[in-house]
Amino acid sequence: EIHEPKDFNIESIRPPSPDMLSKYKHANATIVALVRNHEFGAIGRTIRKFEKSFNEKFNYPYTLINDVPFSDKFKDRIQAFTKSPVEFVTIPEELWSKPDSIDVEKQTTEMNIMAEHNVAYAKMESYHNMCRFYSGNMFNLPELQKYKYYWRIEPHVEFYTSINYDIFKYLEGTKKVYGFTISLYDISETVKTLWTETLKFLNTGDNYKYINKNGAFQWLLSDTQLPENNQIAGGYSTCHFWSNFEIVDMDFLRSEAYTAWFNHLDSTGKFYYERWGDAPVHSMGLALFADKSKVHWFRDVGYFHDPYYNCPKTSHTRGCEPGQFSKWDHLNDQNCMASWIDYSIDDLDAIY
Ligand code: GDP
Ligand code: MN
Repeated sequence: EIHEPKDFNIESIRPPSPDMLSKYKHANATIVALVRNHEFGAIGRTIRKFEKSFNEKFNYPYTLINDVPFSDKFKDRIQAFTKSPVEFVTIPEELWSKPDSIDVEKQTTEMNIMAEHNVAYAKMESYHNMCRFYSGNMFNLPELQKYKYYWRIEPHVEFYTSINYDIFKYLEGTKKVYGFTISLYDISETVKTLWTETLKFLNTGDNYKYINKNGAFQWLLSDTQLPENNQIAGGYSTCHFWSNFEIVDMDFLRSEAYTAWFNHLDSTGKFYYERWGDAPVHSMGLALFADKSKVHWFRDVGYFHDPYYNCPKTSHTRGCEPGQFSKWDHLNDQNCMASWIDYSIDDLDAIY
């Protein structure tokens, strides 16, 4: 049976009684989702499940984000799913669209090659915009400046456990900067040169100073458990935290180190010439620039995004099979959690 984290006095951050909720002292945090207008039903269902699992006990505000203005229909329907405030944000063009510096001919050539190799979303420019936005621009939205933490949700995900403590206050109290539920290997073709570009950055000037001495550098390089059908990407194992669920201290993403590194990555144009995902980008940034003890596996939170699960055995798990990793057996070897545990958790017993 899996219990809540032990490295903090969880009792101090239990939900307030419903009549005290309006006076509850929240952490400085918001729930975020980037969504399209036609996804109102799917994000509505996610919000309904998320409320039941966590947020109806705490009432954190939502920030819904779109590259075009949300329709009145979208806004009207969403507010019916939660009692918490919902802010609707339109992304300024310069934080979303492909930069002018991108060589369109090169982009077309590279995208065609990735498509021939069956890379999902290879030729879908909006998907590349989305990955770049979540990697380096989202936390610069004016509407998010007032917040320190965000918890990302998506359409079509499931929550299987009752979260009976304030996760944001847990991060605040432990000074952790990142929380995840699932980690897995990536398609190496999407991040072919993410690591070699990163080494170029680290080898420029005195950029090495940004590396955290207690970081998880070695985890990025580990290849001992890589499945046969996966490939190392220029030295990077491709193991990463799956960012469709992530709880983040934006001070980390807004830091000088992360910003300087992201600006280098962005200058290569490879969010378009390759298909760098925000998941490997966030993960690599954390491994390099954060203390590994400040990255937290929310082992106790039951979660699903097709086709992967984090399904803990707890007394209140409902709807998933404890221990199951994937909907499909042949994908079970994509789990790289063991690698993260090996390289980054010094004493598992101390945590759970
Ligand atoms: P996948 O999980 O990698 O297959 O990607 P998704 O299709 O789930 O996209 C990730 C998130 O970004 C979801 O919350 C989508 O709703 C959102 N998203 C993806 N593309 C766009 C876009 O072009 N515009 C907007 N507004 N949201 C997008
Ligand atoms: Mn998704």
